[in-house]
Amino acid sequence: MKTGKTLAKLPKNYRMLLLAKRAELSSSLRTKLETLSATGGAALEDMAPVFSDQFTALRINRLDYLQLKLVEAALARIDSEEYGLCTDCGSAIPSSRLDAIPWAARCIACQELFSSDNDSGFPDDSAQLEEMSA
Ligand SMILES: [Zn+2]
Repeated sequence: MKTGKTLAKLPKNYRMLLLAKRAELSSSLRTKLETLSATGGAALEDMAPVFSDQFTALRINRLDYLQLKLVEAALARIDSEEYGLCTDCGSAIPSSRLDAIPWAARCIACQELFSSDNDSGFPDDSAQLEEMSA
């Protein structure tokens, strides 16, 4: 396998980590969507627990989907050689943070600002995902 200059610049192979995470999320999403579509023929009296499960599955799918988007954005930043730089202030994201969250788009200070500005709706960045993986 040929390695590009971007890989050589990174202290660790974050691209591999991100590709593995993307594959994991994709297969997880596919499995859950198949579970959802498999419930189509259920009898009416059996539907109540199914709806409840579907609701849960959709919420989980949404988290997986959001994380998948973050992972893909991080891979794009590797390709454009912007990986490891905060998307808000441009400063380097500490490697300890990238080790824990390879798809982190912001430094800790900017992430905290971003999260506090967006605490009314569903998180669309890694704040909640960080809590989940902690
Ligand atoms: Zn920043």
